[in-house]
Amino acid sequence: MMSDSQKKILIADAIASVGVRKLESFCKTDCDYSIAPSTLVENIREYNALIVRSRTKVTSELIERGRKLEVIGRCGVGVDNIDIEACRNNGVLVVNSPLASSIAVGELTIGLMLSLARRLPYCDKEVKSGNWPKSDVRGYELNGKTLGLIAIGRIGTEVARLANAFGMRVIGYDPYISDERFRELNVIAVSYDELLMQSDYISLHAPFTEETKNMIDVDAINMMKDGVRIICAARGGLIDENALLQNLESGKIAGTALDVFEQEPPNASKLIGHPNVVVTPHIGAQTVEAQDRAGIDLANEVVAALKGESLRWRIV
Ligand code: NAD
Repeated sequence: MMSDSQKKILIADAIASVGVRKLESFCKTDCDYSIAPSTLVENIREYNALIVRSRTKVTSELIERGRKLEVIGRCGVGVDNIDIEACRNNGVLVVNSPLASSIAVGELTIGLMLSLARRLPYCDKEVKSGNWPKSDVRGYELNGKTLGLIAIGRIGTEVARLANAFGMRVIGYDPYISDERFRELNVIAVSYDELLMQSDYISLHAPFTEETKNMIDVDAINMMKDGVRIICAARGGLIDENALLQNLESGKIAGTALDVFEQEPPNASKLIGHPNVVVTPHIGAQTVEAQDRAGIDLANEVVAALKGESLRWRIV
């Protein structure tokens, strides 16, 4: 049997250097952040572990060629780029580091909400252009407003905590968590329709699944309050972008802030150019702290997998 020090790890997508150092201290670790798919398929037979983010596609061919592969480590959340069935069928573990980005995405969500409420991107652009639109800008306070959270997992929990601190009334819809959990988080559990009807701000924190695809569509928007503001830092595809644009143009939706899009980068569309739309380039997890945490959490998990120890975030 191979000893730990004889094992080899390939990091195919960059992770934080603290994570790289942790892996290097365990066994030989190669980093090739621009490796071509064909070279990866060629070389994978040498490695016991492969570390990826979203760039590298872990196909069934790759898994089958990786005769020594014991574990795939996906830095961050989401495993859409990994053929999970092929990993399961070939006895390859899949682990990730899902907790690392919750604070970063939660804080960005509040930042996006404040950007909409106080029109911060507009003010910034105007002042830099030599204008002083003080009297045109009358924003809104978050305090006292109703925030509807669609899904209250790790990130939704963080947003609930912060929104409560801002004095918002937080309501939530998540069919998979208990009433007790809602009470612990000081979030009022409501049905989906009630959430749509009562919220001044709606923030989405659900995964992208068949069930959640286009969950904000024309019918959902029709049920919302006039002047609602919608924030999405979860995944593109949860909101029907055409319905969103139509309702921004009609004034039914007062503003929307998006960190994620159906297609990334998005086409230079009417939606992103709309004056009441604030956009960011999928930066939810892009903080120094979240990236360091993701790298070190993943490295610890991969080392545990290679040592045969118990795992915290095993997907397969
Ligand atoms: P999580 O798995 O902790 O929570 C997801 C929650 O969604 C769960 O509580 C689940 O019960 C709920 N849910 C599932 N289906 C639902 C439905 N039909 N209706 C309502 N709730 C439903 O996930 P998380 O770590 O909180 O991540 C939430 C989202 O944020 C995911 O889409 C993730 O991909 C995304 N994300 C974005 C960024 C970014 O950079 N913007 C970074 C990390 C995660």
